[in-house]
Amino acid sequence: MRAGTILGRAVARGRGQPVGLQAEGVLVDRTSQARGYESQCLVSFLTGLLGEFLRKESKLSSRPVMKRYQLVVIGSGSAGREATLLAAGKGLRTALIEKDRIGGVAFHSGCYAVSGLLGCARQFRDTLKGERFGNEADLLRATLQKWRIAQSNASMRLAQEFEAELKQLNVDVYLGHAELVTDQIVQIVRASGSRIAIRADNIIVATGSRPDFSDGPDPRLVSSDALLRMTMPPRHLAVIGGGHIGCEFASIYRTLGSEVTLFERESRVLSGWETEAAERVTETLQTHSVVLRSVKFRSIE
Ligand SMILES: Cc1cc2nc3c(=O)[nH]c(=O)nc-3n(C[C@H](O)[C@H](O)[C@H](O)COP(=O)(O)OP(=O)(O)OC[C@H]3O[C@@H](n4cnc5c(N)ncnc54)[C@H](O)[C@@H]3O)c2cc1C
Repeated sequence: MRAGTILGRAVARGRGQPVGLQAEGVLVDRTSQARGYESQCLVSFLTGLLGEFLRKESKLSSRPVMKRYQLVVIGSGSAGREATLLAAGKGLRTALIEKDRIGGVAFHSGCYAVSGLLGCARQFRDTLKGERFGNEADLLRATLQKWRIAQSNASMRLAQEFEAELKQLNVDVYLGHAELVTDQIVQIVRASGSRIAIRADNIIVATGSRPDFSDGPDPRLVSSDALLRMTMPPRHLAVIGGGHIGCEFASIYRTLGSEVTLFERESRVLSGWETEAAERVTETLQTHSVVLRSVKFRSIE
């Protein structure tokens, strides 16, 4: 029992608090005749135990302390961006997690990306108009690949500006797939497979939405994301939906030389918009030979 007490004290010194661990396992038979052997056993037992203890201690101290934030935002798209900038601007200790590209859909394949391509299309059409003023535009060609490069450069600049803002506001950015472990612990799985966990007082999940059909290997029915990934414009493009996004795609791909038919179930495109605006857009699309059809599809195969 004495040996147990000794061990208890030794451990207590190491950690600053009493740890009576394994004391009962160090029972020494005082009646034993083989005192030398006994103390040898005791020393080797204590050494082993101390070694085990130190190994555990060193493992604990090498484990990184889990960082704690007042707010963790998952997803850096429009929603996550607004939330992060607002919270960090108000002084909250904030972290942002993104598994793909900083800026999400809006920057890379949504409104800003489409605006970039529209800009290329407008510039192309304006240059063609230059012929009326005596400028030769014979060799002018619209190429989707080059438009995509111009658009992706613009998207990258937006993302870089956003990253600079995050840095200025001391937001920690984690690149990786976020998983909720508990309602306060978020685990981030990086592309390399390594994992890190952070603690959050509050979590905002701003992971966006996805189309409810997947793009096949030889896609004829594609989402706007998959269309933008195509390197060549299709010969004939049918756009389903005459909202502002459908009209934008119709205009872009018509300028690139595709034959475009735009299907809208209502009697006119931009049905939710003011009549005058919708009429102007209809007129422009028709001037560019986009075919407009009012059709209500039951299913698409
Ligand atoms: C072609 C097109 C044109 C559009 N035009 C307009 C327009 O003119 N005006 C307009 O207001 N809206 C427009 N929109 C819609 C607008 O882009 C979206 O509504 C908006 O981008 C959605 O933002 P979000 O933050 O909700 O989602 P997203 O932008 O999808 O962001 C979600 C982010 O979360 C990340 N994420 C998901 N899961 C995880 C995870 N587990 N861990 C870490 N990160 C994760 C994703 O990688 C993504 O970056 C358009 C959309 C498209 C497709």
